[in-house]
Amino acid sequence: MSGSVRTDQELLNELAMLRTRVTELEQEREQALAHGQQKLERLQQDQVAHTAEDKDAPVYERLVVLEAIFETIKDALAVYAPSGKIVRANRAFYQLMGIEHPLEYDNQSLQERGQLVRLSDEHGVPLPEELWPARRALRGEVITSENAPDITFFTMDGREIQADITGAPLRDSYGNVIGAVIVLHDITQRKRLEMRYVEDNRRMDEFLSIASHELRTPMTTINGNIQLAMRRVRGLSRPEGGPPDYEDKLALIQELLSRAERQVRIQNRLVSDLLDVSRIQANRLELNIAECDLAAITREAVEDQRFSVPRRTILLHNVSPELSIPIQADADRIGQVITNFLTNALKYSDEDTTVDVDIQLQDTYARVSVHDKGPGLPEDERKRLWERFYRVPGIRIRSGSGMSLGLGLYICHTIIELHNGQIGVDSTVGEGSTFWFMLPLA
Ligand code: ADP
Repeated sequence: MSGSVRTDQELLNELAMLRTRVTELEQEREQALAHGQQKLERLQQDQVAHTAEDKDAPVYERLVVLEAIFETIKDALAVYAPSGKIVRANRAFYQLMGIEHPLEYDNQSLQERGQLVRLSDEHGVPLPEELWPARRALRGEVITSENAPDITFFTMDGREIQADITGAPLRDSYGNVIGAVIVLHDITQRKRLEMRYVEDNRRMDEFLSIASHELRTPMTTINGNIQLAMRRVRGLSRPEGGPPDYEDKLALIQELLSRAERQVRIQNRLVSDLLDVSRIQANRLELNIAECDLAAITREAVEDQRFSVPRRTILLHNVSPELSIPIQADADRIGQVITNFLTNALKYSDEDTTVDVDIQLQDTYARVSVHDKGPGLPEDERKRLWERFYRVPGIRIRSGSGMSLGLGLYICHTIIELHNGQIGVDSTVGEGSTFWFMLPLA
């Protein structure tokens, strides 16, 4: 019995031991605290030494600077606790989100806030919670514009916002995630402008397509009527007792008709260019590829221009009448490219200068070039003149009554590209330009 019932003395002894142990524990705690405090201070000193460019600057000054940056930065910035609650956000964040009562908002859970703002990706597809940027950053992911879609969300005051998002986890010195920071860059305005631009372009292309088709029909009729009238006039002869200047009058009518015919031809070329451009835009420029003769195509294009502009000298080099260069191509389209080079060369150079056309064979390629002694083109412009509607500033028409819409070279570029060829221009300002293209031999 005595083993289980403790005497007063035994209890007193035990109490004394416990007291000693408590004292020991208290001392240990004191020591641990002091140790921790020292460690913390050392860490803080390290931190300050690390972040301070000027090591003498007091810590609080550094903090003031950081605070000022945080608040004045234009992008919305929020710092999240591991739970998803917002522990800190800048003014831009609350403004962007249309939040009137920051405290209320910050204290809501991530799910609650997510439901309020209805996050979706750039195509309007709702983002599941595991893809919300804050969730991803809290999982340890670094979020960049490359690995995250632009997001769309609704603000507390009902605006729809598109934003580019970046973010990163915040880690302690052991690498544990202790929060996350998210930066929202508002791109709503930019996206709206982009959409308007795309829409404007689409309408412009639609307009081009309709306008060129509508213009072509009456032109065909006008041209048909001119041809008919010319034939009728040609068949007329002075009737018995007709006026003595009958022949002169006929000649005048013929001249007027051929002038009208020339104008219609120019207009037709313009309308075809417009049609071609709208076909290119709609990816509907089709080629009729067949084996054909590049030398013959070149000779024909040169002959046509010699006939249309007899006062100009167009020299053809290295192309004898017998020469034949077989290629796989759409002969009409290649002819169109050479004609365009030629009309430009004639249009942008002085009447008294020659235009030189040349064909060279290089390995498996044939190279056609058209050289003029016009104004020449600086390097920047040589790159840009292939763009749709681009006209080089300061270059004026020096010869003939051609027009300039800035479409021809864009079409040429597309045609040669579709033939797997190369196209380019060499030029020295003040001396002239050489437009060329290369096509693989058949
Ligand atoms: P267009 O001649 O109808 O304006 P192009 O696309 O054929 O359209 O040419 C684009 C622009 O390039 C022209 O407006 C002109 O400024 C410039 N250009 C074209 N060919 C020449 C040339 N041979 N010499 C100087 N400038 C040229």
